[in-house]
Amino acid sequence: MRKIILLALVGIVFAAFTVEANQPTTKPSRHRPTKAECKYGDDPIWQDRAVTELIVVHHSATSGGNVERFAEYHKGKPDKFNDIGYHFVITNGSGGPDGEVQEGRWESAVGAHDPKEKRNFRSVGVCLVGENVFTDKQKSALIDKLAGLCKKYKIKPSAETIVRHHDRCPGRGLDLDQIIAEVKKKIG
Ligand SMILES: [Zn+2]
Repeated sequence: MRKIILLALVGIVFAAFTVEANQPTTKPSRHRPTKAECKYGDDPIWQDRAVTELIVVHHSATSGGNVERFAEYHKGKPDKFNDIGYHFVITNGSGGPDGEVQEGRWESAVGAHDPKEKRNFRSVGVCLVGENVFTDKQKSALIDKLAGLCKKYKIKPSAETIVRHHDRCPGRGLDLDQIIAEVKKKIG
């Protein structure tokens, strides 16, 4: 009996640690706009996704940046989104700490990062800050984030479920196959 209690305790501590490790280090301090408050009707940020079956990986194509900066870009022309398009941004030391996972758009909200095949309605978007070179800390933060999202949404990590935005995003400086292999190892 004692052993069972001990095992249960170890499990709870481990689970708490795992959840903690996947928590973004910054939270959106912004107010999530309601439909009536939104400027752009084509970006339904007020709506929650019905399904989450994909994770789309992007890069910012800028040398630095962070959630606030990209939110400003995305709210302007030509994007015209109601807020940042990505759900998470992983900073690279320029504009935010190296390897920090910042919370962008509300995780449950329909995204504005990949309209192809209506992926915004069924995916989470994660963006690595950088042009084509990403730091080891960014890559390991990405692996942790992807593993956490796969667990949360019961997504089996594969080349079909963890995908690039398109051929040049993220740049080939990120070996996504290798990242997926690491996520698989992590989840077991
Ligand atoms: Zn992209």
